[in-house]
Amino acid sequence: MTKKERFEFCIDWFKKNMPNAETELHYTNPYELLVAVILSAQCTDKRVNMTTPAIFAKYPTVDLLAKAKEEDVYDLIKSISFANNKTRHLIGMAKMLVEKYNGIVPDNTEDLVLLPGVGRKTANVITSVVYGQASMAVDTHVFRVSARIGLTTKAKNVLQTEQQLVALIPEDLIAIAHHWLILHGRYVCVARRPKCEICGLKPACKFYQTDMKYIVEPELNAPAPKKSVPKKTTAR
Ligand code: SF4
Repeated sequence: MTKKERFEFCIDWFKKNMPNAETELHYTNPYELLVAVILSAQCTDKRVNMTTPAIFAKYPTVDLLAKAKEEDVYDLIKSISFANNKTRHLIGMAKMLVEKYNGIVPDNTEDLVLLPGVGRKTANVITSVVYGQASMAVDTHVFRVSARIGLTTKAKNVLQTEQQLVALIPEDLIAIAHHWLILHGRYVCVARRPKCEICGLKPACKFYQTDMKYIVEPELNAPAPKKSVPKKTTAR
């Protein structure tokens, strides 16, 4: 299978099986999504979603977050990984949004990455989810899944992964392809032991063809274990 055919196979499969893929973070406006994505670095979306309602209730606008005290914000997010740094990032991000961008979340990567706590991945999430641009945010799931399937070749970092993916995914599908790959990595092609048994991408997946099928297929073909017959007991 050529790389182009591999892309076509995966895109067809995802279109049929995950037509409405979207972020699992809860938010109602760009400011809230930005807060949620900053908090989600090395933390699960589930944990972030448990935390953000209290933040959005106390700081419903970016102006209020810009004036927040560090100890108050820390108190609300202390169950999240790297709470100290993220506290400083949230308040710093809010201050810069107010002072430099009139409180409006920028619509381009160049400005977004200037905000505290915002790297290229976060910026790409905002430009694609909020502004509908063809940006590919690459996180650990996208990086791993793309490499395993063979959508990327020898990508050494997230930028190379991003560049290789956007080169071969049609522009109108780049935003949803980010969610396809994240969700697939989160629930099926998991880091430790991918669940190839239930994966529809097997025919196109390089890692399956070179490695996993030698583990998975013997397991699938193994005879079912015999049911143990309970011994008869005699009444006394
Ligand atoms: S076949 Fe296995 S390794 Fe390949 S994408 Fe599916 S789960 Fe991941």
